[in-house]
Amino acid sequence: MKKIVVIGSGFGGLSIASRLSSKGFNTTLIEKQSDLGGRARTFYNNGYKYDAGPTVITAPYLINELFTLHSENLQDYVNLLPVKPWYRFLFENGEYLDYGDKLSTTVREIKSKYGYQNSKSYLKLLKHSKKIFNKAFIELSEEPFESILSMVKHLPDLINIRFDRSVYQTVDKYLGDKNLNKALSMHPLLVGGNPYSTTSIYLLIQYLEWKWGVYYAQGGTGKIVDALEKLLNKKDVEIKKSTEAHKIILKGKKVVGVETSEGIINCDAVVCNSDPTYTYQKLLNIKPKKITNRLNLKHSMSLFVLYFATKKIYTSVKHHTIIFSKRHQELLNDIFNKKVFITDPSLYLHRPSATDKSMIQNNNDTFYVLAPVPNNLSNINWENRGKEFSSIIISILEEKIMPELSSNIVNKFFVTPNYFENDLNTYAGSGFGIQPVFTQSAYFRYGNKCHSSDGLYFVGASTHPGAGVPGVLSTAKVTEKLILKDYGHNK
Ligand SMILES: Cc1cc2nc3c(=O)[nH]c(=O)nc-3n(C[C@H](O)[C@H](O)[C@H](O)COP(=O)(O)OP(=O)(O)OC[C@H]3O[C@@H](n4cnc5c(N)ncnc54)[C@H](O)[C@@H]3O)c2cc1C
Repeated sequence: MKKIVVIGSGFGGLSIASRLSSKGFNTTLIEKQSDLGGRARTFYNNGYKYDAGPTVITAPYLINELFTLHSENLQDYVNLLPVKPWYRFLFENGEYLDYGDKLSTTVREIKSKYGYQNSKSYLKLLKHSKKIFNKAFIELSEEPFESILSMVKHLPDLINIRFDRSVYQTVDKYLGDKNLNKALSMHPLLVGGNPYSTTSIYLLIQYLEWKWGVYYAQGGTGKIVDALEKLLNKKDVEIKKSTEAHKIILKGKKVVGVETSEGIINCDAVVCNSDPTYTYQKLLNIKPKKITNRLNLKHSMSLFVLYFATKKIYTSVKHHTIIFSKRHQELLNDIFNKKVFITDPSLYLHRPSATDKSMIQNNNDTFYVLAPVPNNLSNINWENRGKEFSSIIISILEEKIMPELSSNIVNKFFVTPNYFENDLNTYAGSGFGIQPVFTQSAYFRYGNKCHSSDGLYFVGASTHPGAGVPGVLSTAKVTEKLILKDYGHNK
């Protein structure tokens, strides 16, 4: 029986481990941290638990598949609760837009706030998004893209959907209000992209949300991670926590093992869920010149995330609120390109108790708020500036949405780009891997299989099709296909 080691337990690593074990491979999953989940793990702090990362769960069938492969059911492990509304968008001038979960209500909301013409145009935009979704998600997200030729045959369709336009440009073509444009072009930020430079292919996310809805895992996203851990244990996947890979061992071109903090593990193949840029540099020690065309890769922005609990229950705060700063394009340019310290961040506020009352803990409301910030290719010293930035965030929340916040906080801590770089081993602390621009998509993204070594594969945010929970779960589907092509089924 072929033995495969999976390095890393993000959603990418957990899903490929489930897929490979269902096909009879002897699978070992190693994780540097003492807990599983990577960006999707749970933080425990002073008697509170907080979702560390993903909170917007979409395309749940992709999670369910990991269970049905083993003739099990996700519903027996975790309950997914529908979120209503999906998002509240709050603008600088105090106006807001509630978006999802019913199309008719959303269209009515757009009509009452932005007029009849914009509500009609929104439906046209959604139709365009559906067209992109049918091509890019349904047809292409599971295709391995092993050669440039595999890309060429799709070019006419991609030209037809105007992949050359950015998400923002496309939204702007349909809608006629600056605030509405900001709101409806925000999806690239969920996968590490700047709406002004992300190819409009990623507008597919807009329709994807309507297709399957937006959910929250009862008890927190960590419940999905726990469910996958239970499943893998049941299916005899060996899970080794607090085990860091230091080197992937090659014999000639062939992968033969992994050197870890706990000793050497011999194997026939390795799947890296660790960030590919980090993996090539640190685990394979391949000199940069050999990582052809990878030198100019654009890595995503990073995130500053403040986790906190309040004695006041903020009942009027919705589950997902996106608070836009007055500056938009310039702000994103400061974050993505100039990489300077910002003092007027846009924010995403997560209040899980709006959907799941069990997230009121110790009689207190729990939250996280995140701000996109430059990755660590900036010169920002977060050790020195973290507290200052956290105070900036609290004052924005206090002014715009959570009165008397400072005097109500009973617990708080934050993570900076250093957490992503040092704890999760992502290059330059990028929050989402490489950016979703066209020149880093499909064939141009990190390959799910490494062609210079035999038995080396990748899953996760920087591989095809990309970041975000549905994207990352799909990377494992692509990688599974490639492994089965090379090794066949093991059953
Ligand atoms: C704050 C935040 C909020 C987000 N919100 C959403 C959302 O609401 N919805 C959504 O769909 N997406 C969201 N995302 C994106 C989504 O969380 C990620 O795209 C996805 O979880 C990434 O999974 P992954 O498998 O690529 O890698 P990761 O989760 O990064 O996992 C990689 C794992 O590899 C481990 N590792 C690294 N190096 C080694 C080594 N040498 N040895 C052993 N282990 C190693 C790391 O410790 C880590 O556990 C969010 C991301 C963040 C950061």
